[in-house]
Amino acid sequence: MKAKAGNYRPDNTWSPDWPAVWIENRILYASIAFTWHLDYMRSRLEQRSFDWDTAVVGGPAVKLVPTAFDGMEHVSLGDDTPSVLQRVNPMATKTSSGCIRSCEFCCVPHTEGKIRELPDWPDRPLLIDNNILATSQKHFDRVIDRLKEWPWTDFNQGMDARLLNEYHAQRLMELKRPMIRLALDSLDYVNDWISALEILLAAGLPKTRIRSYALIGFDSDPDEAWKRCEYIESFGIKALPMWFHELDATKRNDVTEKQVAMGWSDFKRNRIMQWYYQHKDIRLRGRKGPDLFSHSSSTSSDDTA
Ligand code: SF4
Repeated sequence: MKAKAGNYRPDNTWSPDWPAVWIENRILYASIAFTWHLDYMRSRLEQRSFDWDTAVVGGPAVKLVPTAFDGMEHVSLGDDTPSVLQRVNPMATKTSSGCIRSCEFCCVPHTEGKIRELPDWPDRPLLIDNNILATSQKHFDRVIDRLKEWPWTDFNQGMDARLLNEYHAQRLMELKRPMIRLALDSLDYVNDWISALEILLAAGLPKTRIRSYALIGFDSDPDEAWKRCEYIESFGIKALPMWFHELDATKRNDVTEKQVAMGWSDFKRNRIMQWYYQHKDIRLRGRKGPDLFSHSSSTSSDDTA
């Protein structure tokens, strides 16, 4: 099979989610982000090609399932290919790796370990740092200073609400059109989320430049997921539900037996995802509902984001 460079599906349509593939010096390189693409990539590499002799595979999915290419002598594992992130998304960059936390549902503690500030990085506006606020102030300041040249910035992986303070917010306001993403994955730290939101709004960031992820299907049922998303939107903030996948999931958007036992089904997963992603205008959705949950102001938490 002829390997087309870039993130192409089998039907040759482009998608940033698909493995990035390219060929240099008759070596095929593949960066695989999601474990549900491992079987596809293995079968693609089994077919061999006139265009390449050997292959090097890497990326988070390979770190999570390092046995995925066992028995393939022409395939080796490797993760030190320069500028691989920009091959996946030319606008993306990363200034730190790892994280200070170890959330049960997250692959970062397994794939990247403890937080590490990178000495240098390609200047791009779309940051995919796992936890930029957990870096030192010196590093954070360098990142902001280098982002100021861009007409927009997206802190795409979300910001840890428990760490966000007035200093961060003031510096973020120096950027042109920053998109800030919080996360309310559990009501255990709803007060940290509210506090972060208040800090951002007090600094002058418009609500339209704030989003909030909401992990669903991890440890709660559909009712809780709907109420948490509605709660986010009751503040005028767009909710972005994220479906939980097991760390070694072989199928995208699968509803596992554990999730079925919590009350989920394909229909219920589709219904909430389509509601929040296909109905773009928040004014058509968000029911006013700060009373959906009662929470005490002393509530806080440690290890979920
Ligand atoms: S804080 Fe975010 S990046 Fe860090 S372990 Fe938790 S979910 Fe993963």
